[in-house]
Amino acid sequence: AMSSIAAVAESYQRFNPRAYLQNNYMPPRADFSSEDCVVPWKLRCDIHGRTLIDIGSGPTIYQLLSACDHFEEIVATDYLEVNREVLGRWVRDEPGGFDWSPYIQHVCRIEGKGEQWKEKEQKLRGKLRQILPIDVHQPKPLGSQLCQPADALVSTFCLEAVSPDRPSFERALCNVTTLLKPGGHFLLIGALEESFYLAGEAKLAVVPVSEADVREALSKSGYHIHDFRSYLMPPSLGKPLVLC
Ligand code: SAM
Repeated sequence: AMSSIAAVAESYQRFNPRAYLQNNYMPPRADFSSEDCVVPWKLRCDIHGRTLIDIGSGPTIYQLLSACDHFEEIVATDYLEVNREVLGRWVRDEPGGFDWSPYIQHVCRIEGKGEQWKEKEQKLRGKLRQILPIDVHQPKPLGSQLCQPADALVSTFCLEAVSPDRPSFERALCNVTTLLKPGGHFLLIGALEESFYLAGEAKLAVVPVSEADVREALSKSGYHIHDFRSYLMPPSLGKPLVLC
């Protein structure tokens, strides 16, 4: 298992944040025209608490937009420095970053509180005070960086995309669960039955997991499943996604 984990780590060395964002967060995938589209579906998923840790944030922030109002502090994490840098540049509002404004505007619309999108953008920037390195394959994924367990975890498209096989997916889930306080919530979003994705020159293997696999892994890590929803990607855009 270790050598295949090393192989995954090796393939991530060619991960290109710009290409990844282009493939996944620009049209045709970035379609806000109907609530049935994938992006609005991803953005509707919402939970509440005090500190939130996002596992494997990558170069993206959409998964944190709704959390903004429900958590005092948000911790983003990623294995790759290139991704942590992209996030840091977004937090500091440096030029040349990815344009998340359609996402932020959409979240403001569906929240329906009349919040201006610029206000939400500033709020998230203010709450995103830590961007930490993480390795979900370590028993303590954040090492000694974390002072107290989180009230909630969120993770989007990470565990299946960094695990060479199902046992390592299950172990990774177990490892990140140590970051969560007892009774805390985990919003897990990921791909079902996916086999790979692209980020520039990097072709990243994804371990194909079924709904039953994910349910089993969650229950082995001690979770009660509150809600399990899946979204079937239109054939033109690819494979199904799932939310637990
Ligand atoms: N959460 C983002 C999203 O929703 O688009 C990014 C998901 S991307 C498919 C998978 C992420 O996992 C990448 O950002 C990658 O750098 C990160 N990653 C790779 N190896 C990892 C590891 N061992 N531990 C934690 N994250 C890892």
